[in-house]
Amino acid sequence: MSPLNYRPTKMLVNLDAIRSTIRKLTEYLPEKTMTIAVVKANGYGHGDVEVALAAFEAGAGMVSVATPDEALRLRERGIKGDILVMGPSPVSFALIAAELGISVTVPDENWLLAVNARNWEVGMVLKVHVKIDSGMGRIGLRDKQSLELVVDTINNSEHFLFEGIFTHFASADEEDATGTRNQFEKFMELVGTLHEKPRLVHASNSAATLLYPEYALDAVRFGISMYGIAPSTYVEGKIPFHLERALTLETELAHVKKVPAGSFISYGATYETTEDEWIGTLPIGYADGLRRGLRGQEVLIDGKRMPLVGTICMDQCMVKLPNEYPVGQKVVLLGVQGDEEIKMEEWADRLDTIPYEIAVTLMKRIPRIFTGENGQHN
Ligand SMILES: *Cc1c(COP(=O)(O)O)cnc(C)c1O
Repeated sequence: MSPLNYRPTKMLVNLDAIRSTIRKLTEYLPEKTMTIAVVKANGYGHGDVEVALAAFEAGAGMVSVATPDEALRLRERGIKGDILVMGPSPVSFALIAAELGISVTVPDENWLLAVNARNWEVGMVLKVHVKIDSGMGRIGLRDKQSLELVVDTINNSEHFLFEGIFTHFASADEEDATGTRNQFEKFMELVGTLHEKPRLVHASNSAATLLYPEYALDAVRFGISMYGIAPSTYVEGKIPFHLERALTLETELAHVKKVPAGSFISYGATYETTEDEWIGTLPIGYADGLRRGLRGQEVLIDGKRMPLVGTICMDQCMVKLPNEYPVGQKVVLLGVQGDEEIKMEEWADRLDTIPYEIAVTLMKRIPRIFTGENGQHN
């Protein structure tokens, strides 16, 4: 931890958990299937560079991100392995991507034609993955004619390397498998029209990887579950191997007092004590990602659940204690303490969202402390 992190609010990220999940995944997947570790959005909030390094160590063959800037950041921080930008990149990024050996996605034919018309120096090669829209409706080619045009353009230029073709499932985390099967079939039909297949044909996200090993192909793009989180409750019930959670969010009691019955707590005076109550103050608030809607959510202190009371402030919030605890007492907001665990899913339910959104809205202001082998702070 940097000596400048005086505030006890921190996120512990266990790199051993991430490595162990990737190793289990490798064992579970067919031998020829490569793991592409998805580290977009700062590694789902966990820390992109550290997670990428851990993933490569554990056997991932590539990492992927959503935006060109995320890829640049990884290269700048010394990540030398293969990186794929899965989302659209501006045409102007193509030359830089070629120079830095970053693979990019072809979202449609116009993008490729515009990139092709750029000023390419002799010997410059851009690695491309062609995206097929098999039913997600986001980016990608939708028919045989566009695919033919794109592949011809790639093959007729010495500046493109046709490295991959992929699609993305819209509802692989749901019980009804029909949509996913239809998407897979449509994708494979288009892939089947290629005279020569690229090195990496890939389709699956975490949910499809865990539920449908038969769709694994040459690679899987493994995101949320690398961090130990199931894509949905349905998938959680079908998980083929244990997912170990990597993240713990913790802080300490910063202030403790006994207030008499009839006292008000926090903005708007919406919480009134009904008896003499011990109230603790936590140095974490909505500017850290502890959203205001989490009022009433429990935290773990002394291995027990205790509720947040009153409005959550920008930087602080209050917890109702059953008795006095000392300032400095450990508080776990997400993670395990004693026999209790608070999962992101619990926050997600309260906020009517999914754990993905919880993970990525834990703010940069919270320092990430990496634990486990090769963590800076083990
Ligand atoms: C985010 C993303 C993934 C990873 O999805 P998870 O559900 O987190 O595994 C895979 N592919 C694409 C194109 C994505 O955008």
